[in-house]
Amino acid sequence: MDFTISERMKTVLGMIDDFMHQEVFPIEGEFFRQPFKDLLPLLQEKRQKVKQMGLWGPNYPEELGGMGLSLLEHGLVSESLGRSPLGHYLFGTQAPDAGNIEILHQFGTAQQKEKYLEPLVNGDIRSCFAMTEVNTAGSNPLLMEATAVKDGSDYIINGHKWYTTGAEGSSFAIAMAVTNPDASPAMKSSMIIVPTDNPGFNHVSNISIMGDKGSDYNSHGEVIFQSCRVPQSNLLGKEGQGFLIAQERLGPGRIHHCMRWLGICQRSLDLLCERANSRVIETDGRTLADKEIIQNWVAESAAEIEGARLMTLSAAWSIDNLGMKKSRDKVSMIKFVVANTMLRVIDRALQVHGGLGMSDDTILAYFYRHERAARIYDGADEVHKASLGKRVLRNYQKARK
Ligand SMILES: Cc1cc2nc3c(=O)[nH]c(=O)nc-3n(C[C@H](O)[C@H](O)[C@H](O)COP(=O)(O)OP(=O)(O)OC[C@H]3O[C@@H](n4cnc5c(N)ncnc54)[C@H](O)[C@@H]3O)c2cc1C
Repeated sequence: MDFTISERMKTVLGMIDDFMHQEVFPIEGEFFRQPFKDLLPLLQEKRQKVKQMGLWGPNYPEELGGMGLSLLEHGLVSESLGRSPLGHYLFGTQAPDAGNIEILHQFGTAQQKEKYLEPLVNGDIRSCFAMTEVNTAGSNPLLMEATAVKDGSDYIINGHKWYTTGAEGSSFAIAMAVTNPDASPAMKSSMIIVPTDNPGFNHVSNISIMGDKGSDYNSHGEVIFQSCRVPQSNLLGKEGQGFLIAQERLGPGRIHHCMRWLGICQRSLDLLCERANSRVIETDGRTLADKEIIQNWVAESAAEIEGARLMTLSAAWSIDNLGMKKSRDKVSMIKFVVANTMLRVIDRALQVHGGLGMSDDTILAYFYRHERAARIYDGADEVHKASLGKRVLRNYQKARK
């Protein structure tokens, strides 16, 4: 494995770091004070600057208008962007659009690419991904109940979804529904593109999450598909390929999250250390940094972040060089290791800030509330541990035989 950073990447990372300090961190206060949708004009200006610098869409192929970085290179960029909740959005590489772009690129027809992929990559529109349902366990999507039934040249979709991230303000959704109820469980479902101005697409509301409903991109919607009629030409890939495409989407999607979480880890540790060095805690002027327990937290955090980073880069290298299938174990490992590392580091940083940590005067309380979900979405910890554990045991069983 080779994690050498090329001269080009050093320049790119330097430019991104400058942009984060000059253009992104200073507007985080606005992000706390205003609904996301009110910030859109300001964010649009910043996005234009990113495009002018040639840094738009770091992970998309050059023929789509992106930078064409490898996954390993994107990992380094993503960590840098992840230090702010605005970073990925400003560089056009935010979830769930990034995943939708990948599957539209891989499975979309020429017509779908022209209508949906091109404006999406360009940042002119946004999209959402509607798989998880209110009434069935998202951890086992084989239980999915939403249906898409053929009627003439259309599908009629019915289903009750939630946690459809960024549904508000999206131009289209990629919906998962059962199209082939008599097929084997893994071949029952399909992905279908649904424009959100379709009268059968009902965005019920944004879910209140830890006291915050959010808005626009920064929200998670409840959506009812009610006799939602779309042409069969909106099918993505082949009928019954929904789970296969979902695997294609979720694999890279998981590693993208881990890369972003490393940025959150690093920002939290930066804040922890700055506060520990400056907060006087004794009458003789000694600071929190002089306390052994704080030194331990710093050491543990630094070591855990370095371990998580190396695991993530190793998974990225493996996907780049060996493909997704051979990298499944590494992806499962990083999903729960990096999520838990991040939550521990955020918690320590918040604790060191005391009352200030609970306030919205630093980014830590936001991270604490929003990133708890990391252990749940894209496969809960327990699901990844169970599937990794089974695969490891199977290898030992094969070796015994
Ligand atoms: C912030 C956020 C954003 C999201 N964005 C999207 C999105 O854009 N689109 C989308 O379709 N979905 C999205 N989701 C949904 C997410 O993917 C699901 O919440 C997740 O798959 C878990 O499904 P569930 O909530 O139905 O929990 P359940 O499946 O009911 O599981 C509940 C808990 O049971 C435990 N568990 C589950 N299975 C096992 C097992 N095999 N062994 C042991 N324990 C187990 C785990 O602790 C799990 O957390 C998002 C969720 C969140 C929180």
